[in-house]
Amino acid sequence: MLTRFALDARPIFEAAADDDLGSAAIATNELLSWTRPTPRLDQHGDSWDMHFHGPTDRLGDGWAAGCTAALTMALGSARVGRLGVCVAPECDRVYVDRSKNGTRSFCGVNCQNRVKNVRHREHRARRRQPRR
Ligand SMILES: [Zn+2]
Repeated sequence: MLTRFALDARPIFEAAADDDLGSAAIATNELLSWTRPTPRLDQHGDSWDMHFHGPTDRLGDGWAAGCTAALTMALGSARVGRLGVCVAPECDRVYVDRSKNGTRSFCGVNCQNRVKNVRHREHRARRRQPRR
């Protein structure tokens, strides 16, 4: 269930990152049709919290339903521009940009530092080349 969710969710992030909200919405509606998130109040101690449940009580169904609901709410809000695809080579992750200025390009610090180090090494190598 989660593998299918990940495969179906990635194109949504790609479309959103490309500002193709129509494609993102169509793909999200398809995701909603099979993950079928249903809000329910679950008791935790003395409080009741809203969770999204899937069509069964299996853990993967619940996670897929909850993530689909969150994705749907993000796409239907001002946060739509915060969905992105990591720009680091050889990285296939997506992210939700929760930074203050909304200019994130990487899934995390590891990818950001890896790309920064490669650029730094390339810059140093260019400086060492003899001038003609
Ligand atoms: Zn990455």
